[in-house]
Amino acid sequence: MKHLILLAAFVLAAAGLSSCAHRSAPSDPMADWAWEIPSPPPPHMAWVPAGPFRKGERTPESVTAIVIHTTEGGYKKELSHVENQENNFRGVINYFKANDRNVSAHYVMGRNGEICQMVNESDVAHTQTYYNGRAFGIECAGWSSRPETWTPELLESLVELCAYLCVKWEIPAYHPEGTAYEGPYSIAIDDDNKRFTGHGLVGHYQVQPWNKSDPGDHFPWEEFSERVRERIRQYGAEPIELPTPEEVLGTEIFATARIAEESVSPGAPFTYQLTIRGPGAGAVALEDIVFPDFSVIDGLVVSAPKRTASAAALVIYEIELSRPTAGRFQIGASRIKMGGRWNDTQTVGVRIE
Ligand SMILES: [Zn+2]
Repeated sequence: MKHLILLAAFVLAAAGLSSCAHRSAPSDPMADWAWEIPSPPPPHMAWVPAGPFRKGERTPESVTAIVIHTTEGGYKKELSHVENQENNFRGVINYFKANDRNVSAHYVMGRNGEICQMVNESDVAHTQTYYNGRAFGIECAGWSSRPETWTPELLESLVELCAYLCVKWEIPAYHPEGTAYEGPYSIAIDDDNKRFTGHGLVGHYQVQPWNKSDPGDHFPWEEFSERVRERIRQYGAEPIELPTPEEVLGTEIFATARIAEESVSPGAPFTYQLTIRGPGAGAVALEDIVFPDFSVIDGLVVSAPKRTASAAALVIYEIELSRPTAGRFQIGASRIKMGGRWNDTQTVGVRIE
């Protein structure tokens, strides 16, 4: 799907080249090629690095959404709305800059259209829990309950930024329906937990409907996403359509790891269990899985992984382990590749005594 769109972009670029008959021949053909690929330019922005983030090495395959937020900072009654919003913009940048808090966003936007980038595009910001790896987080200085948050200047900058990111990272320039709780992109990962899997221009309320409502009812989703698509077309690119729920859900998995036994004695076998759930689980092959590096744990005896459950939406792999000596150690995360995206499990601890 993404490759088809990219191909269309190249065809457009080629058409542009042939119509420029009077342009002098470039000395570096690659430089000229790069110049010809239709793409909105990055908007003007400041750079203030955030404290917390995760090195991501992300690719367009693994990034599927832009999540829009409002900062919801303190509101002082004695100040005007304009002053409050401007203070909030600066305050949130300082908040994310601090190393002692575990939250950040890729971008913070101000009421006058200012954009401050705080996390590199290829890295993961700590903005919206389970959805971080696959998304960009944009914090707009303001309040979801106040319509005056959405100044023309802020919205215009947000259009520009989203158009740039949608083309570069091949993100659909549409607002998907539903939330983690309901709608076509909702997925249950166990009896108690649901997740949102939609792609495109997403609101925080869709990812975490249990505790978030931003950017709120005053955010003009329809008009906004139409403007992002218009902007993309102005630069000669074609907006990417939303994938169908079947396409999205067919590649979703959520993986967990655990040690099957409660207590382990020296020399006795115990089991590392990797569980992969979700509609795409059955399609995961052994070569799509990177198991933890067991060799870093001294004296550990490791069997080959065995598939002990295999259904369309549930796959379990087990590895039998043993260690002749007592001690405590951590087994690192497994990584599972699905639809171009890496899903990490948590690490698990073992005590042998
Ligand atoms: Zn939010």
